[in-house]
Amino acid sequence: MTEQAVQSLAQLQNSFHLKPTHTDLIKSVMGDSSDVIGFIRKGQQYITIEAMDQEEANNQEKILELDASYRELMDLESRVRNQNTTFTTLATRINNGEILKNLMTPYEEIQTQLQAKCTTEEEKYLTNEKYIDFRQNIWNINHPDELMPSLVENDDDDIVMGSTKISLKCPLTTTWLEDPVTSTVCKHSFSKAAILDLMRQSGGSVVCPVSGCNKGIVPTYLINDEIMAERVTRVKARDEKNASSTQFFDVE
Ligand SMILES: [Zn+2]
Repeated sequence: MTEQAVQSLAQLQNSFHLKPTHTDLIKSVMGDSSDVIGFIRKGQQYITIEAMDQEEANNQEKILELDASYRELMDLESRVRNQNTTFTTLATRINNGEILKNLMTPYEEIQTQLQAKCTTEEEKYLTNEKYIDFRQNIWNINHPDELMPSLVENDDDDIVMGSTKISLKCPLTTTWLEDPVTSTVCKHSFSKAAILDLMRQSGGSVVCPVSGCNKGIVPTYLINDEIMAERVTRVKARDEKNASSTQFFDVE
């Protein structure tokens, strides 16, 4: 390379910095990562249902393996979310006119900050709402009428996390949940047809019909709850089995 070429290359490198147009790329990465999070959710559902099966078979070793896989997926999700936060932060800084010569250094700085936030097992899993739900679903198999003890040992402040008993009956039909859907804003579940009917009658949105809950619900807040469906199927099967053995006993 001639001296002139080297000079102009150096000039080019010096004047280069990331511009707001470059942040479009960040948006497409964010789109991809929401797909990844969708797959993680799906995987966690499969693991939950499999763990419920294993609990029924009393196969504790297998449950420990599934528990580890569930935690791995949680870690993966938190990595994806950290990455999103990092990209959004970088995009905002670039759009606000900050001169960034490269992405890697600030990227790593933000990542390190985010990763430092969450360290203990307790913070990461045992007080995580989704993990508590997972454990609750397993617990309910053999203890349908007992509260799950807190996952956090030495629970000084008396907060009993995860011990809420979830009803398997629809608050609208008062019978077993059918095609259960769960509201993402308040976690209450309903039979799909019943809640959609109610929404139609009231012009599209309703105040959550569970007494004491005053969250507004629209159809897009409802997600098909396969795990709840699974639990209803199991409890119904158990009830039928109990009923038939009682009948047999009565006849005798
Ligand atoms: Zn509610």
